[in-house]
Amino acid sequence: MTIKTKLNLGVGLLFALILLLGIVAARSVKDIKANTDNILVANYNSLEYAKNILSFIEDVSPKNLDKIAVNITHQEDNITEIGENEATQDLRADFNALKTNTKDTQLVKSIRNSVFKIIDLNMQAIQRKSKLATTTADNAVIMIAIVATFCFLIAFTLLINLPSNIANPIKELTQSIQEIADKNYSERVYFEGSSEFGQLAQSFNTMARKLEEYNSSNLATLMIEKKRVETLINNMHDPVIGLDENLHIVFINEEAVKIAGLTDNKVIGQSAKLLALNNDLIRLLIKDIALLETPKQAHAKPIKIFADNKESYFEKETLHINITPTGESKQKLIGHVILLRNITAYKELDLAKTNFIATVSHEFKTPIAAIKMSLQLLENKQIGALNEEQLNLVEGIKEDTNRLLKITGELLNMTQVESGNIQVSKFPTAPKEVLDYAIQANKIQAEQKQIRIEVSCREDLPKVQADSEKTMWVLTNLISNAIRYSYDNSVIYLSITQSEQKIIIAVKDTGQGIPPQYQGKIFDRYFRVPNTKKEGTGLGLAISKEFIEAQGGKIWVESELGTGSTFYVMFEAIVS
Ligand code: ADP
Repeated sequence: MTIKTKLNLGVGLLFALILLLGIVAARSVKDIKANTDNILVANYNSLEYAKNILSFIEDVSPKNLDKIAVNITHQEDNITEIGENEATQDLRADFNALKTNTKDTQLVKSIRNSVFKIIDLNMQAIQRKSKLATTTADNAVIMIAIVATFCFLIAFTLLINLPSNIANPIKELTQSIQEIADKNYSERVYFEGSSEFGQLAQSFNTMARKLEEYNSSNLATLMIEKKRVETLINNMHDPVIGLDENLHIVFINEEAVKIAGLTDNKVIGQSAKLLALNNDLIRLLIKDIALLETPKQAHAKPIKIFADNKESYFEKETLHINITPTGESKQKLIGHVILLRNITAYKELDLAKTNFIATVSHEFKTPIAAIKMSLQLLENKQIGALNEEQLNLVEGIKEDTNRLLKITGELLNMTQVESGNIQVSKFPTAPKEVLDYAIQANKIQAEQKQIRIEVSCREDLPKVQADSEKTMWVLTNLISNAIRYSYDNSVIYLSITQSEQKIIIAVKDTGQGIPPQYQGKIFDRYFRVPNTKKEGTGLGLAISKEFIEAQGGKIWVESELGTGSTFYVMFEAIVS
């Protein structure tokens, strides 16, 4: 039965019961009223006529006779009891006789007797009818009580059953929906009958079944996707390691297992921190994860690994995986991926290039030295005097030879830097001496551009622990750059200052300056500020940085476009 029918029936039944109770009560009242009406009309009036006749018969005057006649006529129209008709006929007969003989006391007596009989009959009837009315009232009370009890029982049954009939399925359904929300897709509801709840249960079960199917098919898809990604990672030639937020290994491909010397099936789920205790490579790989370093910093230096009977080079990239969980606004770290890019092939090519440059520049040195020697001989007047034009040509060849020597020198230094073979021999060195030598080396170049070099330096400066040859090379290069990138007739300021335990050498020019976006790049190998007109290799500053840092010093630049640049070299002072 549908809920609507149930409600209709329930409310309709209550309505019918109220109606029934009303009808029973109305009928009972009507019966009681009929009884009293009956007494009033049928008997009370007869008593009234009889009382009138008795009072008028006391004095038999023509006037009273008329009144008695009227009352007898009324009485004749109001005969209701058995025997009343006979008594009334007797009354009529005696009254007719009395009209002709008004003095007959016998007739008056007979009339009185007839009237008393009528009174008696009606009094008995009143008593009987009054009893009947009482019985009718009692019956009505009983009837109303029975019907009211019946109505109460039905209404009570409805009160108990109807709300729970509707509320219970809703409660059950709510619980089942909660189960579905908790991902228990096997939940079903069963409601008896074909009510709306039955249909609702059917729809709910269909929905739950479809969700269950969807969930299991999704799981299968996810498993396939997982397998696909795992296969993909395993087939990668570069080692890959996945870690969760607690640094437990989530996945690791065969390449990574091979180079780390691990056993695959034992590694998944293990703590990388524990593995790192006995595995140098894992220790190296997870070192920067705790610091949450950016990937750029992390893979700056290639890692050299000996695996497969050969040396391999890897560039490390660490990705920190952050997600924003559904419904939340804050990002959450869920793990890390370590990628090792195999750069051995590039490294080998790079090495071949470095070796080639080293060999070529080394081989160039001897012929260049021979050219220089020949030039010196040519300039020697004892061999023969040169005319003006020849002298100019010799001067040109000398300049080009020096430039060539500078370039081969820089290339050779670079090969040292690239192969990591910088030999540093540090001794206590006076910074002023090194600076003076560098000034001397650039003197002619400065004179050519009419550039004045101003030096400011305290005499009693402490010495520094440095490789004087390499520092000289660096300062020569810095002063040479300052001259090259300055305008003619300008000034270059050189200074050596002490700040606490540090000695700082500054080379300041008033040249074109370096655009801010390139200031971080000028120390990179082969980098030259775009559109630089002067000749150069872009190696001088890169070599300078390597040379200074190899000695434990620091080098940096401050520059403003259009105003000039200042290069700083800093060493730790030797405190006596
Ligand atoms: P290069 O042989 O090109 O001078 P460097 O490594 O010495 O190579 O310098 C790299 C680049 O930095 C130069 O090409 C030039 O653009 C810029 N640079 C170096 N020193 C100065 C300076 N004093 N003023 C302006 N630019 C400079």
